[in-house]
Amino acid sequence: MRLSDPHLLKDRCLIGGKWVGTPKLEVNNPATGALVGRVPDLGVGETRAAIEAANAAFPAWSAKLAKERAAILRRWYELQRDNKEDLALLMTTEQGKPLAEARSEVDYAASFTEFFAEEAKRIYGEVLPTPKESGRVLVLKQPVGVVGAITPWNFPLAMITRKISPALAAGCTVVVKPAPETPLSALALAELAMRTGAPPGVLNVVTDDAPAIGGELTSNPAVRMITFTGSTEVGKLLMRQSAGTVKKIALELGGNAPFIVFDDADLDAAVQGVLASKYRNSGQTCVSANRILVQEGIYGRFADKLASEVAKFKVGEGTEAGVMQGPLINAAALAKVEAHVRDAVAQGARAIAGGKRHSLGGTFYEPTVLTDVTTKMKLAQEETFGPVAPLFRFRDESEAIAIANGTPFGLAAYFYTRELRGPGAWPRRWNTAWLASMRGYSLRSLRRSAASRNQGLAAKAPIMVSRSSSS
Ligand code: NAP
Repeated sequence: MRLSDPHLLKDRCLIGGKWVGTPKLEVNNPATGALVGRVPDLGVGETRAAIEAANAAFPAWSAKLAKERAAILRRWYELQRDNKEDLALLMTTEQGKPLAEARSEVDYAASFTEFFAEEAKRIYGEVLPTPKESGRVLVLKQPVGVVGAITPWNFPLAMITRKISPALAAGCTVVVKPAPETPLSALALAELAMRTGAPPGVLNVVTDDAPAIGGELTSNPAVRMITFTGSTEVGKLLMRQSAGTVKKIALELGGNAPFIVFDDADLDAAVQGVLASKYRNSGQTCVSANRILVQEGIYGRFADKLASEVAKFKVGEGTEAGVMQGPLINAAALAKVEAHVRDAVAQGARAIAGGKRHSLGGTFYEPTVLTDVTTKMKLAQEETFGPVAPLFRFRDESEAIAIANGTPFGLAAYFYTRELRGPGAWPRRWNTAWLASMRGYSLRSLRRSAASRNQGLAAKAPIMVSRSSSS
């Protein structure tokens, strides 16, 4: 890997403005197994030091004028944009996603910093009436203090900027623990943050021992908020651990998105929708379609078309030209995908595309389409997080919604139809945070539901899932 700016490849952590620790833990390229870099193995002591540094930096940072913080964030955004090629290459090399996807993630990540740089100046309060004639209630929004951020490997930059940018804009200081598979992207972001002139201690990054770092972040009283993106299981654990010091908490957790295709849908548009939603990042995306529900009238035609499109995929190392699907992140991810497919096939599902490890070896898995999938199979209940499209058959709308709502997850859902089913009463029957309606001729928007369940306690901006169709 050759970066235009080799200083973006860090092998130390950032605490109180100093690069510390001994490079030890290997970071490997999931496509080749090659060593990309090493990062320190930090634990409780270093995390405590990072929290102290963040706590010490908090008074001055939070007292800065909003426009001063905005200027630093704006500079950080510009540096992310200016270093896009290096950040994308670093991400592809440690995470495996195709370079085009990595480039688009850099844009996505930088967009959060840009947005919150602007919002830094718009943290308004409120004046409320009181039950008495005299007096008014003045609501001032204040930064909570030190924020602990724990992030996953599937979006190594965006999940960090989405957490850090609003926190810094508000005047909070931050300690980040990135995923061990992708710490280099996090450290490159930290290097760029240092180049903005952000004061020491405002942003700190610690790598390695998750239970130790997480334990300290959740129990240390100086940390006033935990923000986490990752699995539902770990999210619940962090929530329990944070109870002792009654922290604010924001969780963005796992999904199991249904993708419903009605008989009247534009078939080509729906197939393209599955390709974009299911196979992006090798299916390792929280809002990926995990269960494709197809109405019985078009089931066969939809399955054949999807399988023929999937067969055209170029699989390989993300830096190779034209590659559309990279490897899975690690052996555990591969084992989970294999277990789901094995379980489905043992219960009567058929692989009409893929269905096994890719001949490239390593953690590459064939882009897969399964038919005759039922709700009894593992992949109906658990997030597969891989390039497997399981096709469920349904008779009518009620059955589709019952299947769609039949898991404890509720992060995202998609449906394709030409009929006007939203945004009126119909979407209220869904237990999901994000609902995307693609009608075949135009995109209609989406709904954020307060009723959604285990997707977490997210404090995120609404996301438009938009894709225009061809007909
Ligand atoms: P994960 O296993 O929960 O790990 C996420 C982060 O939590 C990693 O940095 C991990 O570090 C850390 N962690 C694990 N155990 C911990 C503990 N006891 N204390 C503190 N930190 C701990 O999830 P993942 O496999 O990386 O990510 C995939 C999951 O994230 C999927 O379920 C996906 O749906 C979800 N996700 C959700 C969203 C959203 O917006 N809702 C976005 C992206 C991803 P270690 O690896 O070192 O343990």
